[in-house]
Amino acid sequence: MSEEKKRKIGIMGGTFDPIHIGHLILGEAARQQFSLDKVLFMPAGNPPHKRNRAGRAGDEQRVDMVRLAIASNPGFALSLFEMNEDGYSYTYRTLEMLRKRNPDTEFYFIMGADSLFDFDQWRDPQRIVNAAHIVVATRNQTDPEVFNALLEQRREQFHGDFLKLDTPNLDISSKRIRELIRNRESARYYLPDPVLNYIREHGIYLSSAEKQ
Ligand code: ATP
Ligand code: MG
Repeated sequence: MSEEKKRKIGIMGGTFDPIHIGHLILGEAARQQFSLDKVLFMPAGNPPHKRNRAGRAGDEQRVDMVRLAIASNPGFALSLFEMNEDGYSYTYRTLEMLRKRNPDTEFYFIMGADSLFDFDQWRDPQRIVNAAHIVVATRNQTDPEVFNALLEQRREQFHGDFLKLDTPNLDISSKRIRELIRNRESARYYLPDPVLNYIREHGIYLSSAEKQ
């Protein structure tokens, strides 16, 4: 099949505990910048011993929150590919399985700069790079030169396609949101209203068990 006819699918993976506007803006920016047909939001599974931890959302709640957050965007979809019974799935396996099932599709795996910094600690990063384009957004006020140098280093290291996503630094994290909610401070506008309402209704993140 010719390149033009290939479907292009973005994958936004994460713990999404909870999903926030950082994740959504990355997905939308990638969709536009790389003309993606769809962006799949793919919550990572938790191994059984990590489910229902105090101060965290349960697996089903994380999925519900993703569903609520992306509902209004026809370019986004939820994927439960990594929410399996034994929990954790490795990214390289997910991508290889998706490739096998969808030979006419090109995959764009989206991440923040923090993930690119630890990328060589991930399980089998070479197989990830072989299976997908890697799309990276800046984060944590990373100096642009440092960011460019890291992208170049990863390209040389893995002979892969590391693409820079053109987004502003979005100073927001799930960890910060959990803190705000636990301290009963406003987290409004850090995440879509329906997600915040869901968190309130279910009393999520109020416990102080999380070690910071
Ligand atoms: P936590 O604080 O719990 O680690 P998080 O905000 O980092 O949560 P994750 O679910 O861990 O969210 O992130 C999923 C992916 O989204 C990662 O690749 C991460 O780098 C990226 N990401 C999350 N928030 C941002 C952000 N504000 N800017 C750029 N990338 C982000
Ligand atoms: Mg994180």
